[in-house]
Amino acid sequence: MKLKISENFKKLIVNTGRKLYKQNLTIGTWGNISVLDPDTDLVYIKPSGINYNEIDLKDIMVIDKKGKIVEGFRKPSIEMPMHLSIYNARKDVKAIIHYHPIYSSVLAVTGFSLPGICEDFVQIVGEKVLCAKYALPGSEELAKNAVVSLGNRNAVFLLNHGTLCVGRDIKEAMKVCYVVEKTAHIYILSKNLGKCRVIPEEDIKVMQDFAKNSYGKQTEK
Ligand SMILES: [Zn+2]
Repeated sequence: MKLKISENFKKLIVNTGRKLYKQNLTIGTWGNISVLDPDTDLVYIKPSGINYNEIDLKDIMVIDKKGKIVEGFRKPSIEMPMHLSIYNARKDVKAIIHYHPIYSSVLAVTGFSLPGICEDFVQIVGEKVLCAKYALPGSEELAKNAVVSLGNRNAVFLLNHGTLCVGRDIKEAMKVCYVVEKTAHIYILSKNLGKCRVIPEEDIKVMQDFAKNSYGKQTEK
C-alpha cells in the first residue's frame, strides 16, 4: 500500500527553516527540522547540506520511522538518527527542531543546564533543560545521549554543539525554540549581575498543571 505524502508537511519544513535562518537562530545549512505525520507515521525531514533559503519542496525527504527513504532524491539530514530516536521514545512528539542559536549554545559549550527561572519556560519547556553527553554529530551515540537528557522535557542542549527542541506540532516546537533561547540569554545576563532566582519546584508544578489543563484550552484543536 502506498502511503499518502503530504505537500503541507513539506511546506512546514521549508517555511520553518526560512524563519530560523531569517531570525539568526541558525546559520548556513546547520541545524535540521522534521515533522511526523501521525496518520501515516511518515517523517518529513530537511535534506543534508542545503542552505535554508535554497531549500524547496522537492528537496524535503520523506522517510519511515526506521530511516528508509519513501520519497526524495537528496540525502536526509545527518541527524536523522537523533530525530528518529526521539520519535520512537516520545509518542507525544510530532515535530523536532535542532538549531545552533547563540545564547543556548553558550550554555551548550559549558555543559551547564538551564534551570527553571522564567514562567513561560517552565510552562512550555520543562522544569529545566539538561546538557546531553558529547558524541559526534550524526552518531547513534549522540541520538541516545539526546533521548536520555531530553527525558520528558521539550528541549535538550547538545554539548559543544547546539540545542534541540520538540513539540506536539511544528508551531509548538518553534515556540519552544524562542523561549529556550530567550531564557538562556536571560540566564547568562542574570549570572553576570550575580543573582538569579530559580522558581521553586512546587510553583513550577502548579504552573505546568495550569498550562496543561486550563491555559488556551478553548483555542486548542
Ligand atoms: Zn547541529
